Amino acid sequence: MDHSTINHQTGQTAIVVGGSLAGLMTGIALAREGLETIILEKAGKDRPSGGGLQVDGSLFDFNKTERLLKKLASGGSKRSLQLWSSIEYRLRTEAESYAGMDIRYNTRVQSADQDDASAWVITGDGETIYGDILIGADGHRSMVRGYVNPHKPHASFAGYTVWQASIKETDLPKAKRPRKSNGYTMLNSFSGFVFGSITEIEDDSSDSGNRQIGIAWYDHVRNDWLRRLGAVEGSVVHHSLKGSELPEELLHDLSKEASERWSDPWLTAALHGINTRTIVGVPIKEYVPDNLVSGRMALVGDAAHAPAPITASGFNASLQDAVELGKCAAKGIQGRAAIDALNEYESKRLDTVRQMVQSGQHMGRVFGL
Ligand SMILES: Cc1cc2nc3c(=O)[nH]c(=O)nc-3n(C[C@H](O)[C@H](O)[C@H](O)COP(=O)(O)OP(=O)(O)OC[C@H]3O[C@@H](n4cnc5c(N)ncnc54)[C@H](O)[C@@H]3O)c2cc1C
Repeated sequence: MDHSTINHQTGQTAIVVGGSLAGLMTGIALAREGLETIILEKAGKDRPSGGGLQVDGSLFDFNKTERLLKKLASGGSKRSLQLWSSIEYRLRTEAESYAGMDIRYNTRVQSADQDDASAWVITGDGETIYGDILIGADGHRSMVRGYVNPHKPHASFAGYTVWQASIKETDLPKAKRPRKSNGYTMLNSFSGFVFGSITEIEDDSSDSGNRQIGIAWYDHVRNDWLRRLGAVEGSVVHHSLKGSELPEELLHDLSKEASERWSDPWLTAALHGINTRTIVGVPIKEYVPDNLVSGRMALVGDAAHAPAPITASGFNASLQDAVELGKCAAKGIQGRAAIDALNEYESKRLDTVRQMVQSGQHMGRVFGL
């Protein structure tokens, strides 16, 4: 792996708020341009996560950073479906290898601000950290977005939920293990539809049995529960619903619908999630940005543009954000150059990402959600 940086701009610093996939990719892209990069992530280093992502692993691109990020995302394999945790591990390992990179976990950013000379954040511990630019990679409930676009700070509830559940293939009785190869299957339900997925757990493994069977159940009929449980208020999504907090009545209802509609392995994966309360309900949110930049602050990833997951494009768009930001920052970010670089980034990305989120809204309507 190429760990060298492209330019050397010692003394120029980028702060990235959020160290998930978009934050790590942005950190890597900026570090490769020689910037000192500080990534601040409120979660711990080893957080659990399960879902699978469709990754564009084509390596025919001209830009070196784009090729590197796609290689890390896909694990160098041709499989487009990758586990979130595998992608995160590869990106984090790469990011940690840059000399100018400082990744701080368990560090929540409380507030941010900027003036003519710099941008800064104040952390939960009261520390003030200064940089030439400040990038919000802090997800769909972005705090930085409130500074970049104070008139439109929140993503909106799209009107449906995705219930996610999974089981390891080895936990299924042999007779119920799928003979199918990895990939997606679409199933109908009363309440919407389901994507069943079969994903390799270890990228390098070719052992059958080392796979994860998952369901992503798009449901538009249980929105009352979201409101009753405080996950959604008005059009604002506050949080996802963990299995441990779901009432028995709701679990019973989910289990009944799954049993009536699906066969194995999808049914067993759904019932496993319900019975072990590992199922998670994610209320879907969307954000169509009016702008991506304000002065020395910019947004990337879901903070910039939260598309419905049916577009399967949020991750790939986050990768393109990182690549474009790296290219724009390559010319330098000191003084006024920071503002020029970020404005150029916005002009390259805004129309594309607006169309991506709008296409998800259209798909939601087509699928009856
Ligand atoms: C159900 C589902 C399925 C999906 N499927 C696909 C798919 O198939 N293909 C695809 O391309 N995309 C998919 N996506 C979207 C994709 O996962 C995201 O677009 C991508 O991972 C980028 O996320 P992110 O890093 O911008 O945000 P997040 O993953 O939300 O990360 C934001 C990070 O910021 C941190 N943070 C937040 N606030 C603060 C703070 N104040 N201080 C410090 N840290 C903070 C959080 O802890 C978090 O780690 C899916 C999304 C969902 C919900």
